[in-house]
Amino acid sequence: MTYRLTDEHEELRAVVRELAEERIAPRAAEIDETAEFPWDLKELLAKQDLLGTCFHERHGGTGLDAIGQAILVEEIARADATTSLIPIVQKLGALPILLAGSDEQKDRYFPRLASGEWLIAFALTEAAAGSDVSANRMRARLESDCYVLNGSKRFITHGSVANLLTVFALTDPDAGGRRGMSAFIVETETPGFAAPRVEHKMGIRGSPTAELTFDDVRIPVQNRLGAEGEGFKIAMETLDRSRLSIAAQAVGIAQGAIDAAVRHAADRQQFGQRVADFQGIQFMLADMASQTEAARQLTYAAAARVDAAAWDLPYWTSSAKLVAGDTAMRVTTDAVQVLGGYGYITEYPVERMMRDAKITQLYEGTQQIQRLVIARQLLQRAGVGAEASDRRETSA
Ligand SMILES: Cc1cc2nc3c(=O)[nH]c(=O)nc-3n(C[C@H](O)[C@H](O)[C@H](O)COP(=O)(O)OP(=O)(O)OC[C@H]3O[C@@H](n4cnc5c(N)ncnc54)[C@H](O)[C@@H]3O)c2cc1C
Repeated sequence: MTYRLTDEHEELRAVVRELAEERIAPRAAEIDETAEFPWDLKELLAKQDLLGTCFHERHGGTGLDAIGQAILVEEIARADATTSLIPIVQKLGALPILLAGSDEQKDRYFPRLASGEWLIAFALTEAAAGSDVSANRMRARLESDCYVLNGSKRFITHGSVANLLTVFALTDPDAGGRRGMSAFIVETETPGFAAPRVEHKMGIRGSPTAELTFDDVRIPVQNRLGAEGEGFKIAMETLDRSRLSIAAQAVGIAQGAIDAAVRHAADRQQFGQRVADFQGIQFMLADMASQTEAARQLTYAAAARVDAAAWDLPYWTSSAKLVAGDTAMRVTTDAVQVLGGYGYITEYPVERMMRDAKITQLYEGTQQIQRLVIARQLLQRAGVGAEASDRRETSA
């Protein structure tokens, strides 16, 4: 399966790049320093119809394909990783509804999400259940025409600023996390819901990562997604697709660091010549650029698999996230090196990019978990793997 970037993709890249360079990049250092959610940039993206790209036109979205959505995230992350999480999580939170929601649920919620009036978050991880999703313990008890939710979630991106959540909880604890979990839509105004804590973090500091608590939160049965017991499957199918956004984010962060390193090396003089003229530095820049290009092309190839709903899309999206995440960490570390002491001070952007890059190796399934997913598909592809239905045990 091949892919080709269309003129529309390149036009989208040009528009988003201009917006990112003129309006987002100038705010990045301040967002990092204050650790405040950039509401102004959320409004900017909403006004530009860039929060509705994963929704169909009938819900007010623009129905962009997966390659286009990857380019959108990449170009924003190139300027600021925190701001790129606004479209990333709008899609992550909505995917369970896109995959398993009824038309009634989509008609009820998607217009406000597509316009950016509302933000949504994806609440799967718990304090004792990260990579091991089946260890989830939050409960959803059916009481006549309502579900009553009790428990807590940890590390939920935008959990403290979202209007809506997709939440995973056990409707049948005896059946365990894989078969006893169900998925729900929860409006954060519902009594009993709270976001008592926001984490202090190494990077993506303007993106609030919250602990969420549910104390007898009552939601109508119409807010369950799919059938009881399908929650684990919905969560895994969501992550198989949303990981693509993290790969695109990592490619963007790496490209932003390369841009800064090339600019500095071209300006900086040592020993009477430009730092960029030292072969040792040229070799570093060449490795940074070629590895980032490889990660970019793998990400677009994976996006084409998502658009085609290919059976092996988990292999591709996990490979893209694995390669792009590791590349971003290596490239941003090298960019700090190319800037020398200036790379280590907050006046220059690369130390922030290095701190931001690390999260792309952790969330939406750590790199170890990506390798598990890839290996399973490899064995399956060779006809020597576990049955498809038994292949999933992990991973957020
Ligand atoms: C900033 C941030 C934002 C996040 N946003 C969200 C969000 O919006 N929604 C959400 O639901 N979650 C979110 N998460 C949670 C994230 O997905 C988890 O942190 C991640 O899945 C890892 O789980 P853990 O932190 O519990 O680590 P653990 O699962 O405890 O892992 C610890 C180490 O053990 C390794 N490990 C675990 N199992 C295996 C295995 N089988 N084989 C090999 N190695 C293994 C891991 O790779 C890791 O190195 C976020 C986390 C962070 C830090």
